[in-house]
Amino acid sequence: MRFNLSTHIFAIIIFVCMMPVGNSMLVSHESEIQDSLICDTIDLLSFNGSLANESVHEQVDMGPRTPGSNGSHSLRMYLVDHLRGWDLTLQNHQYKELNFTNVEAVYNSGMGNVVVLMAHYDTRQLADSVLSNNESPPDGANDGASGVAALLELGRIIPELGLNHEIRLVFTDAEDQGNLDESKNVTSIPWAAGSQRWVENLSQTEIDDISSLIVLDMIGDKDLNFGKTIPANDTLWEITQRLSIMMGLVDSETDCDGQLGEPVFDISDVIYVTDDHVPPHHAGIPVMNIIDVKYGSDEVLSGHWHTENDTIDKVSAESLEKVGKLVELGLRLGLWSGSNSTSNDSASNSNISTNDSISDVSIESEENSYRLMIGLFVFLFILISSLAGAWVIFAEKQG
Ligand SMILES: [Zn+2]
Repeated sequence: MRFNLSTHIFAIIIFVCMMPVGNSMLVSHESEIQDSLICDTIDLLSFNGSLANESVHEQVDMGPRTPGSNGSHSLRMYLVDHLRGWDLTLQNHQYKELNFTNVEAVYNSGMGNVVVLMAHYDTRQLADSVLSNNESPPDGANDGASGVAALLELGRIIPELGLNHEIRLVFTDAEDQGNLDESKNVTSIPWAAGSQRWVENLSQTEIDDISSLIVLDMIGDKDLNFGKTIPANDTLWEITQRLSIMMGLVDSETDCDGQLGEPVFDISDVIYVTDDHVPPHHAGIPVMNIIDVKYGSDEVLSGHWHTENDTIDKVSAESLEKVGKLVELGLRLGLWSGSNSTSNDSASNSNISTNDSISDVSIESEENSYRLMIGLFVFLFILISSLAGAWVIFAEKQG
């Protein structure tokens, strides 16, 4: 009896000692798995920046892709040619006397949530920046071709990723025809008219099914500088921040290789941008616009933007690959397809960016319940020890 009682007390002591240790190991293992999963996935990324850069060259060689131009027609045929295996539709629209055509490519049609990747393929009718010396239509190597190139390269690799949800690549026309001087024989229509028409033609069910919409615009600059653009879904930016850190794209933050990152993404730098993400945002779709508004300059929308200097020599394969791989990483991890529940509230999503806050809360409550259990076991231990001692003394007296 004494032996049995001692064994039970010993077992309780061991159990009490093990409980908090087991919990902290579980917690650290959990966060380790998350980071290691991201890092392991980074090793798998296959987006090829050189192929994307080749596409920038091919698009620029078509000449200006202003709405209704020969270059615009060639670009659409080029998209059709490069997206075999996708369901393609060409959607014709009109705004004032300007006819334009969005191109939409769908993969895994009807499967799960929908992730939309969007880029405008039109180039501006005039290089009308105050910094421009020549108002001829710009080449649009960065402002136009870079986003299209990234979407095409994603379109090449997506069928190999085994995703379990629908993806739409939307190539908008008529993003970049806003605020033009019509006395110069051009037609000015609202910015992002292509995106506006695209979202107007979605049913409410189609809108509700979209978990995220990511716009890529001006992503090829050799010297990339991304801030957080608004309007946006905060959760998408938090995910981007986390992934960027792990990929070494955030200044002074430690990446998967233990190296300090470079200053590509700085989401503390917040700027309002009017672009293709705005109409879908107003329709209630969670959106994010990845755009480098400091193209060839530290000033916002200055430098090469809307000038004759938006040429292929300003764009690099390395920059295209950084952004392409970031999007690919989110796709492979299922992060873009899981962000629907948040709408435009950053706190309620259950994916990686918010795992931090959600798991912080759950870790705290787990720790509280373990503290309570430990207290209960200590109380029982003292109670049982006292009873055992009393029993021994009683038995010795009887003996
Ligand atoms: Zn532009």
